[in-house]
Amino acid sequence: MSKNLTTRSEDYSKWYNELVVKADLAENSGVRGCMVIKPYGYAIWEKMQAELDRMFKETGHQNAYFPLFVPKSMFEAEEKNAEGFAKECAVVTHYRLKNDPDRPGKLMVDPNAKLEEELIVRPTSEAIIWSTYKGWVQSYRDLPLLINQWANVVRWEMRTRLFLRTAEFLWQEGHTAHATRKEAIEESEKMMNVYADFAQNFMAIPVVKGLKTETERFAGAEETYCIEALMQDGKALQAGTSHFLGQNFAEAFDVKFANAEGKQEYVWGTSWGVSTRLMGALVMTHSDDQGLVLPPNLAPIQVVVVPIYKTDEQLAQITAEVDKLIADLRKLGISVKFDDRTTQKPGFKFAEWELKGVPVRIAVGPKDIENGTYEVARRDTLTKESKPKEGIAEFISGLLEQIQSDLFNKAFNYRETHITEVNSFDEFTAVLENKGGFVSAHWDGTAATEERIKELTKATIRCIPLDGVEEAGSCVFTGNPSTKRVFFAKAY
Ligand code: AMP
Repeated sequence: MSKNLTTRSEDYSKWYNELVVKADLAENSGVRGCMVIKPYGYAIWEKMQAELDRMFKETGHQNAYFPLFVPKSMFEAEEKNAEGFAKECAVVTHYRLKNDPDRPGKLMVDPNAKLEEELIVRPTSEAIIWSTYKGWVQSYRDLPLLINQWANVVRWEMRTRLFLRTAEFLWQEGHTAHATRKEAIEESEKMMNVYADFAQNFMAIPVVKGLKTETERFAGAEETYCIEALMQDGKALQAGTSHFLGQNFAEAFDVKFANAEGKQEYVWGTSWGVSTRLMGALVMTHSDDQGLVLPPNLAPIQVVVVPIYKTDEQLAQITAEVDKLIADLRKLGISVKFDDRTTQKPGFKFAEWELKGVPVRIAVGPKDIENGTYEVARRDTLTKESKPKEGIAEFISGLLEQIQSDLFNKAFNYRETHITEVNSFDEFTAVLENKGGFVSAHWDGTAATEERIKELTKATIRCIPLDGVEEAGSCVFTGNPSTKRVFFAKAY
């Protein structure tokens, strides 16, 4: 199979777009900014979903489902949130079409079917959910509410890219309600930690945990926690967010509870989400010029077995051998595919599974049968070795674990060597231009400086790292005093 992928050094962005399509993850659709997720891509997303869902339930959350539409008056109730999302809302104004008298066989919006109140297609569900919580919370005994929803949302993005930024995307959104400020902050932090744990230990993607600045904060939140990842081209990607909402939505939707003394108080809230953007993070963190590289935890097929043969007799012999191998691997919970298509040559199959990122390939030919060996190839390092048949299943199981941790370490080393401390604006721009990555710099804490730096360099403050140390310094741009470094980067 011919891959003909643009290489990363030629054009990183083109490489990404081509890879997503050629590896069968997704494609553009007939709807502006909206993608079709193909079965192979969806199988990876399902693995992410399953693990996240398990982690949410383990931390006490339950799933529920709320409507796609939000009446405009309800959407407006929390003003900051409404204002923040207003520019990217799809709005339903009519509920019926009719035959168009001027264009036979075609339809037009029926002007007599105008909705009394417009409906917003949810860009996020705080409004509909908090309007519901009003009916669910009366006393402190009803708290906390720990709810998650798996859904699609629509944000009318102007510049879209498969997975990274689409107009409709799939995500989960957690929405919790608490009796105290402290508990709500703990929840926001806990979910940021769940996301970081998931990104690092399941997706093998190292992340920085931090707080967003006021400019980058979620509209309607008091504080936004985030995990930020670094892609191979030195650009950052916001991989997940967790918001402490204070009492903003409780006040907007009048959600009060009677505390233990019988006094009425507003409820405290959080919300948190990750989206199909994580698929983009996965591709951009690990993949190479040959195609996808998938961490074993996320690979729909972990091992592919390819027979090498000339005669039908050889194939029959190999198949008998492979049947046992597959059974042994499956016993260890490993997903295996035997690629015995007679329509393709081994070279084509090798290239196809490389492109699709299958972590381990086992090739079996007549020589192997004779010698009692298998040829085992790693996708991540593109190395291969001959291994004895004895104990092969256990070896493969260990190898998959090794690949998972090697991928994390490789990405971690890249990330670590791409965090650069700078102390002047010249250094700042030089690092951004020549090296990329996170630029760790002092900032005077004002939105004006942040904005000016963005205008001049396209870099934004990705986060105020939570593990940053207090240190007296002066802002790289204004020279005004600062107590802590923040991470700037160009971002997706
Ligand atoms: P937010 O509700 O803005 O905090 O976003 C929640 C999650 O969705 C974050 O991880 C974002 O990075 C991600 N996200 C935001 N906008 C998009 C988009 N247009 N396409 C895909 N993911 C998005």
